[in-house]
Amino acid sequence: MRTITLKNVSKTFYDKSRKLTPVLAIKDFNLRVDDGEAVVLLGPSGCGKTTLLRLIAGLDDPDAGEIYYNDIPLDAIPIEERGIGMVFQNYVLIPHWESRKTVGFFLRLRDREQEVPAHVNTVAKITGVDIESLMGRFPRHLSGGEKQRVSIARAFARDLELLLFDEPFANLDAKFRSQARVELKRLIQEFNVTLVYVTHDQVEAMSVADRIVVINAGRIVQSGPYHALHDDPDSLFVAQFLGTPTINTFWGRVSDGAWDGSYMGRVALPRPQRDGSEIIVGIRPEFIKICDAGAGIPATIERVIPFYAEKYTLLEVWLRKRRWRIQVPLHEFFQPGETVHCLLDWSRALFFNAQSGERIR
Ligand code: ATP
Repeated sequence: MRTITLKNVSKTFYDKSRKLTPVLAIKDFNLRVDDGEAVVLLGPSGCGKTTLLRLIAGLDDPDAGEIYYNDIPLDAIPIEERGIGMVFQNYVLIPHWESRKTVGFFLRLRDREQEVPAHVNTVAKITGVDIESLMGRFPRHLSGGEKQRVSIARAFARDLELLLFDEPFANLDAKFRSQARVELKRLIQEFNVTLVYVTHDQVEAMSVADRIVVINAGRIVQSGPYHALHDDPDSLFVAQFLGTPTINTFWGRVSDGAWDGSYMGRVALPRPQRDGSEIIVGIRPEFIKICDAGAGIPATIERVIPFYAEKYTLLEVWLRKRRWRIQVPLHEFFQPGETVHCLLDWSRALFFNAQSGERIR
């Protein structure tokens, strides 16, 4: 049983390279993670994800606010009773310890070394390889991916209640990475472990999370399941951060009650806006269809980029003097320079205040 609560948590660093300029890494952060929930902290580089994970782990102290495990203040719980398994980006393995010693540390202290092989087996399942062969080696004799496997094994080889993972699969081969996420998800459900998982990769977030918390500049900008964030973003930031290929966005002004982008024509707004207001309209690449000549708007293909794993082709086209991204099925073939005709589904358009980035619904 493990819940985590963050109440008004803030953390500031002082940048030594810039005359101790304060860097407000986490700002007034509130979050509740339920027992057995898998929460992914997703955001761009430098948004504060690792800082947040370190605070939740008790490795750093917040400057303001409180952190609770099961509604008990974190600093009132002795470290050995916190039940945390951690995997950080740089995996911090002790250089003069063989993997076996690293993985077995927690259980050996409790005279339960005989349980280590079962945990090693668990990790072999997650990462899809036999890690027994790594057990007799020192960190300097391990590749990046192998170090990552050892640190995952260490995280699991204890009485687990909470897993804190910071990009744990970054060094695994792409083939193993997707398998590892699925297996991790299965195991945390099986063992009823609470998971907080940091990544900047939305595909990773999608496959691991019950709930995604999108962070920008140290604050939560939106949280929910992937499809809700993707289909119904509250802000331009979330609309642009989630979804591949990236949403098409165009700037325009309100005139006579409609959005008006030069060369783009006029588009009805979801609710009335002041004339002259600046609004960004967004259309996802999947809502543009190639149709027969005569039916749609002509566009010239500039680039054709197949994404075999994702099973689509991205076309970059010039349409009404703007560059657009269009997603088409992989089996349809196009050439750069070719003219195609496009149908734009404006009923799926999203509108954002150009100044604040807030969604207009
Ligand atoms: P990434 O995805 O690149 O790992 P992140 O979202 O995990 O980034 P953090 O590592 O939490 O981001 O950093 C948040 C901010 O705090 C950044 O601006 C970073 O430069 C700053 N920061 C983090 N640690 C320190 C530190 N020890 N001293 C000074 N600044 C720091």
